[in-house]
Amino acid sequence: MTRTASCSCGALRVVCDGEPQKVALCHCLACQKRTGSTYGIAAFFRNEDVSVHGSSKLYTRQADSGFPVTFNFCPDCGSTVFWKPQRSPDLTGVAAGAFADPAFPKPTSAVHLESRHLWVGDL
Ligand SMILES: [Zn+2]
Ligand SMILES: [Zn+2]
Repeated sequence: MTRTASCSCGALRVVCDGEPQKVALCHCLACQKRTGSTYGIAAFFRNEDVSVHGSSKLYTRQADSGFPVTFNFCPDCGSTVFWKPQRSPDLTGVAAGAFADPAFPKPTSAVHLESRHLWVGDL
């Protein structure tokens, strides 16, 4: 199975081989800011299963774990497509929505429930 995630304009693409190691939903406020939505969903693939095409700009912030995480976003349209968590240097996080695939594997965990918008899960 090969899946491709891409930004809004398509200039930045990430080709992922095999199944994600983990798919996690995060309700934290930083993910809300990054996505503009009420939560983010990360699909983690092994670095060797990911190939990046196109240029990206970087934004690094401290994660709650205390380790930095570096987000790669398209310089033209601004979509974040993938990121590198230094806490797990062997993994690449890919924005689940960037696959534009309603059949993409669902999250198996959710974190930062304290920031969950109260209606999420009701609709
Ligand atoms: Zn783009
Ligand atoms: Zn988060």
